[in-house]
Parts: sequence; C-alpha cells; structure tokens
Amino acid sequence: MSELLQMSPQGWYCPIALTHIDPIKPVRNAFITHGHADHLKSGNLHYFCTRSARPVIRQRLGPVSIESLEYDEPQLINGVQFSFHPAGHILGSAQVRVEHQGEVWVVSGDYKLENDGWSEAFESVKCDTFISECTFGLPEFQWRPQAEIFAEINEWWRQNQAAGQVSILAAYALGKAQRVLRGLDPSIGLIFCHPAIENVNDVLQTQGVKLPSHQRLRPKHKLNDLRGNLIVVPPTALGDYLIKRLGEQALGVVSGWSGQAGFAKKHPGAHGFGLSDHADFAGLNKAVSASGAQRLIPVHGYVKEFGEYWKGNGMEVLF
Ligand SMILES: [Zn+2]
Ligand SMILES: [Zn+2]
Repeated sequence: MSELLQMSPQGWYCPIALTHIDPIKPVRNAFITHGHADHLKSGNLHYFCTRSARPVIRQRLGPVSIESLEYDEPQLINGVQFSFHPAGHILGSAQVRVEHQGEVWVVSGDYKLENDGWSEAFESVKCDTFISECTFGLPEFQWRPQAEIFAEINEWWRQNQAAGQVSILAAYALGKAQRVLRGLDPSIGLIFCHPAIENVNDVLQTQGVKLPSHQRLRPKHKLNDLRGNLIVVPPTALGDYLIKRLGEQALGVVSGWSGQAGFAKKHPGAHGFGLSDHADFAGLNKAVSASGAQRLIPVHGYVKEFGEYWKGNGMEVLF
C-alpha cells in the first residue's frame, strides 16, 4: 500500500506531491521544520519554511529559493495540502501537517510544550498518523520548570563572581543561547556572547527578538575585563582561542543530558543545568495523546522504547 508519507533515502517523502520534509539529501521541494543543521541541508531546489524561521535559514543557505508561509497557511501541491504549525522548539519552528483526501499526517520536527516566551508556543494538531521525535522518550527524562533553572544559573553566576571567576556558559548557538540570555539577570554583571552566537543574535534581533544588553566577545577583552562577568558560548566553541586563553574558569553547560552518566565525562568539572528545547517524556506523551492519532511513528532518539511504551497502551506503532 502506498502511504501519504513514506521514508525514502532522502528522508520523509510525499510521493503524490513529490515533496520531502527535512530532507537529508538534495531534492526538489523541501519543507523545513526549523534551521538546526540536522533538519536543514543545502542543495535543495525549492525550500518552504515559516516566515519567522526564514531569516536564519536565509543566513545559513544564502541566495536560494525560499518560500515562507504563515502558520496555518495552506500550500497546495498536486492536490496535497501542506501547512506549518507551531512546535515551540525555537523561533519559527514548525510541525508539518499533510492532508490528502481527508487523511492527515503530522511530522513533528523537534518540539517542546513548555512556553519559553520567545518561540511560538506549541500547538497540538489533530491527525491520523503522528511522526513524533522522541529524543528524550524515557520516563527518567523529566524537566523542572525553566524559572527554577534560570534562578540556579543566576545564583551560580553570583557565586563565580564572588570568587573572582569568569562564568562560561555553554548553550547551542541557535535557540538555547537566546533562551538562556533571556533568563539571565543582567544586574549581576556584563554579558558577553561568543561570535558564533552573536551572529545568530544579530539576525534574530532584526526580527524583534528581545535580548538583554550584551556584547560580542572579542580578542581585546582580556581576563580582567571578563572577571565576574558571563560569556555564553556554543559547546562546540569551548576549545576556541577566545575561551581557552582565559584558563581555568567556572564552566556551566545547559543541556537536557546534564543529569546523565556520560555528561561528567564529556564536560569534566562543568556545572550542568537541565534545560532542553525538546519535550520530556511527559511532554511527548501529552503531545501524542493530544494529536488523537491512531498511529504513531517514533523517530530520533529512544525510538524503540518510546514506541513499545505506546504499543503497550494500544497504539498502532510503526518503526
Ligand atoms: Zn532542533
Ligand atoms: Zn533535531
């Protein structure tokens, strides 16, 4: 039987519309859920994304064909109706709803249910088949309210300041960094951003994203300019000269994996702050229930465990 969407070597594919969702190899039509590198690849002929995801995607891809849609705005391709719906993951992130002859599929992309105040809040979309991410699809993943985490981060910063240290806080450049910046208390000290984050901030601020007062970290900023202050840096840039030259300082890492066994090994001596832009186990379950789907296709993460859990609850699960 030919399904409305099917897995192809390029990723999720609608054969009727000759259209892919977050393709991993170049295709003709690509619906992009958001600008993170595992969802956005270069080389496609024609891109679709939400209006608020477009500036970052444009920055990452350069002058390619990008058509932007509002949330809920239908796009008809060969009789198949596509639309984007808020996923609450980062600004502009979307679930993709695909409808044909009364049958509805939803591809979740990445999502979270907690409203972070800067992404468009997650909206549940009714469907027959729900293709859901399950990055944190085990019961042990249970997030605390973000306000508690931000209070901990600010307290950590104050303590480092009292000890005359620089606070180096690692967070992904697109999304997590801005969420963290918005949770920082700028009355404590100065906030610096690594260039990789500041380049993203520049784009988002032109879209009206409000960030606390901060400055781009530059080589001219010496250790003494930075003591007592805080630098937000992507985890991938912790080894950069700009950071390494500062020597031993207080390191914090903001990550959903912070409570896990491998975390201390990966970030020796770091203080972990458990904040994620993905849904925790309860959030995933809530989203699957709210979708009203009769069929679940778990992707990304604990696919087997999460799928088996739902199978046990009487759901039809495709792996
Ligand atoms: Zn993502
Ligand atoms: Zn992802």
